[in-house]
Amino acid sequence: THSYLAAMEAARDLNAYIVETPEKALEMAAASDARIASGEARPLEGVPLGIKDLFCTEGVHAQAASHILDGFKPVYESTVTANLWADGAVMLGKLNMDEFAMGSSNETSYYGPVVNPWRAEGSNAPMVPGGSSGGSATAVAARLCAGATGTDTGGSIRQPAAFTATVGIKPTYGRCSRWGIIAFASSLDQAGPLARTVRDSAIMLRSMASVDERDTTSVDLPVPDYEKAVGGSVKGLRIGVPKEYRIDGMPPEVEALWEQGKAWLKEAGAEIIDICLPHTQYALPAYYIVAPAEASSNLARYDGVRYGLRVPGDDIAAMYENSRAAGFGKEVKRRVMIGTYVLSAGYYDAYYLRAQKVRALIKRDFETVFEAGVDAILTPATPSAAFGVASKTTASPIEMYLNDIFTVTVNMAGLPGIAVPAGLDAKGLPLALQLIGRPFDEEMLFRTGQVIE
Ligand code: GLN
Repeated sequence: THSYLAAMEAARDLNAYIVETPEKALEMAAASDARIASGEARPLEGVPLGIKDLFCTEGVHAQAASHILDGFKPVYESTVTANLWADGAVMLGKLNMDEFAMGSSNETSYYGPVVNPWRAEGSNAPMVPGGSSGGSATAVAARLCAGATGTDTGGSIRQPAAFTATVGIKPTYGRCSRWGIIAFASSLDQAGPLARTVRDSAIMLRSMASVDERDTTSVDLPVPDYEKAVGGSVKGLRIGVPKEYRIDGMPPEVEALWEQGKAWLKEAGAEIIDICLPHTQYALPAYYIVAPAEASSNLARYDGVRYGLRVPGDDIAAMYENSRAAGFGKEVKRRVMIGTYVLSAGYYDAYYLRAQKVRALIKRDFETVFEAGVDAILTPATPSAAFGVASKTTASPIEMYLNDIFTVTVNMAGLPGIAVPAGLDAKGLPLALQLIGRPFDEEMLFRTGQVIE
């Protein structure tokens, strides 16, 4: 814990942490020392972790990297973090992220962009770590924590993991409780770990996952000992490769890496089969209707009355308006406006309802291939490696949204997906492959993921 705290101080220029909690960390670490000394060590005893700012931790600022939650200190603990502490983990602080988890580069944070510790060869230009769990990814990659929590609504664990050569898993919807995690799009949000290795992420997920009566979408299934799945044989497994993920303009090195991933799995005894997921091309547009719709509803509670920032006005309506105008950043406002529009009378059927129907078709696509005996699906995790800080912020938001092209399908279908570092691009920046599994078959992802790692 001491050495992580020192590393955090030395690497403040990466802007990974919004809040550091050294006193809490040392107190928890001392308690862990005592446990270890008395032979009562729990599974994560003394392991120092960083927590994404979207998680509520009792008495510590939780601001979702937004100005509107200025000074908000929750009086309760999220279920996921409570589970981690109950297993002996140590809290180092709160990690930077895109505001309310909306973004793919960590540049929408009120607290400024996070910098990726990786650089393109021969350049010192700062690169983004991806988003929205960009602080988590940078902190793990730069050794500013042993592991971190993230959340993934459309790719926010897997894409930053891919950009920083870390391992990120989005579990099946319902595997981790969402209680105490600030909501973005409730039917898509899931918590998961970012860690250095497949094994570390298996160990962390086991502690994070649980059924919880305070989240009725959490599922009452036993949590397996995921670590046991790591190193398991992949002989005879059927790995599906969907042709729809071979998109126009895909860089040749991403294509080559995908081929390499197939070869590794084949060598290890798996069978590679071509599959069809015909509604893939509609996933991104449908996601950018469903996610903003739910966000506009979830974010209605930030009105200057109950939490954080309040900007006075002549009457209460003016106070609401002033607080929301000053408190939300540009991307959040864009999502709230899109969401309100697609849910409004006259547009609901044309946009929101239609997007929900498309979502059902995407889910069916996956069910069909899994029913036909496919054990896991292999795709690239992102269409490119990390890009430069500020290089896309002035571009159209659509260009930013395209980062999620390979990851959003998984959230729309509620499935588990893992991003595993697999190689480097021509400039020496990390690239990752994604494995997608059947509902609640995270073990398959740890088994197959370790072959790629
Ligand atoms: N980049 C996507 C978005 O901006 C996904 C974010 C996430 O998974 N939280 O909505």
